[in-house]
Amino acid sequence: MTTDAPSVWLTTLGCAKNQVDSDKITAQLAGAGYREAAAIDQADVVMINTCAFIEAARRESIESVLDAAGRKRDDAKVVVVGCMAQRYESDLAQALPEVDDVVGLNRYGELIGRIDALAQWEPIRLASSPMDILYEVRRPAPSTPFAYVKVAEGCDKICSFCAIPQFRGKQRSRPPVNIQSEVVDLVDKGVGEIVLVAQDLASYGRDIDAPGGLVDLLRFLSDIDGLRRLRLLYLYPREISDQLIAEMADNPLVAPYFDLSLQHSSPSLLRAMKRAGSGEAHLELIARIRTAAEHAAMRSSFIVGFPGETEGDVDELVEFIESAQLDWAGFFPFSPEEGTPAADLPGRVPEGDVMERLRRLQALQDGVTAQRNSEQIGHRLEVVVDTIEDGSVVARSHREAPEIDGVILLDEGERGDWLDVEVTGAYGQELVAEVVR
Ligand code: SF4
Repeated sequence: MTTDAPSVWLTTLGCAKNQVDSDKITAQLAGAGYREAAAIDQADVVMINTCAFIEAARRESIESVLDAAGRKRDDAKVVVVGCMAQRYESDLAQALPEVDDVVGLNRYGELIGRIDALAQWEPIRLASSPMDILYEVRRPAPSTPFAYVKVAEGCDKICSFCAIPQFRGKQRSRPPVNIQSEVVDLVDKGVGEIVLVAQDLASYGRDIDAPGGLVDLLRFLSDIDGLRRLRLLYLYPREISDQLIAEMADNPLVAPYFDLSLQHSSPSLLRAMKRAGSGEAHLELIARIRTAAEHAAMRSSFIVGFPGETEGDVDELVEFIESAQLDWAGFFPFSPEEGTPAADLPGRVPEGDVMERLRRLQALQDGVTAQRNSEQIGHRLEVVVDTIEDGSVVARSHREAPEIDGVILLDEGERGDWLDVEVTGAYGQELVAEVVR
C-alpha cells in the first residue's frame, strides 16, 4: 500500500452538469485523502470526465484521453469517467489499452473504491466511500461567484434525437433538503448566484413526493441567507406552468431568465422530434412570459438540419426568430446519435446546406441580440462581477447566464461584488455600464 496520499489530475469536458459531477468527485477524493496534482505529469491518477453529447464531443473526449495518456508519468493510472464511459464502457476499455479503468455514471458509487485499488491507497475516511454523487453535497470552493447545482439526473422524455435518457436513465430528483445543504455550503463559500440545472428542470420533483415541484423548491431555497440570485437552465416549453412563470416573475431572488428549449418552429419537424408544440405555441408562451415578467430575458437553442427539414421550414424558423425577439439563441447542426430514432430517419440534409442555414440563422439572431441589447441603454440593472480580465471588470445581470450569453463591462468593481449599474452602451453581445452610486 502507498503511504503518501496519491495525487489526482481531473480534466473535465462537456457541459455544466459534467462540471458539477467533477466538483463532487473532487470533493469525494479530497474526503478520501487524495491531493490535487499541480500538473498532469505529476499526478498518480489522471482522470478524464468525458462528454458524449454529439460526435464532435466524443472525438474531443477520445483525443483528450490519448493526450493525457501521452503526457502522464509512466506509472500513473488513467481513469475515464462521464457520459462516454457510461455509453461505451466495454468498447472503450477494449479500444484504449492506455486506459486503466472506465467508470460509467451509474457506477459512481464504486468510483472512489476503484481508484483506491488502482492507486493502492487506503482511504483515510470511510465516509467518502460508495455514494451516488448526485446526492453529494460537498463541493470545493468555486473560483467564481456563481455555481451550478444539479437538482435531478436523467430524463423521462423521448425526444427522438436525444440519447441522454438511454445513458442517464429515468429522472431521479434530489430531495429539497439535500439540494438545500449543497446550496448553503456554496453560499458559505462565497457563491451568490446558484444556477439550477437538470436535463428537464421544469419536471423536477415528479418522481419523488414533491407535489409543488420546481415552484416549491424555488420558495424553499429562497430562504437561504446570503443567496442573491437563483437562475434556471433548460426549461422544456410544455412543462412551463403559469405558476412557474409567476414565481420567476415575482420572486425577487429568482432571475426572470427563461431558458426555453424550443428546438424548432415547424410543427411537422417538432412532431418528428417527438416534441410538443409549434411556432405559434412557442410565441404564445413567450407572450405569456412577457406579460407576467416585463423585464424577462429569454434564451433558446435550435436544431438545424433535422432530417426532412426543407427550405420552407427554415423560412418558417426565420420568421419565428424575427417575431420571437429572443435575447439569446444558439443554433446547432443535427447530429445523428447512435440508437436514437432520429438517426434512422430519411431525408438527411447535406452538410453544406446545414452549415449555410446555420450561418443564416445565427446572423439573423445576432442582429436581434444586438437590438435587444441596445434597448437596455439607460436602464438600471443589478450585476455580479464574475472576474477581472485584462483589466476589464466583467459582470452579469439577470439577463446573462454564465458562460453562454454576453457580458456587461464595468468601469470599476471587484470579483464577487453585487452592484447597481446603468447601461451606457451596447456592442453586439456586450453591454457597457457604469456603477450607480
Ligand atoms: S427533454 Fe432534453 S434530455 Fe430529455 S430527451 Fe428531450 S432533449 Fe433529451
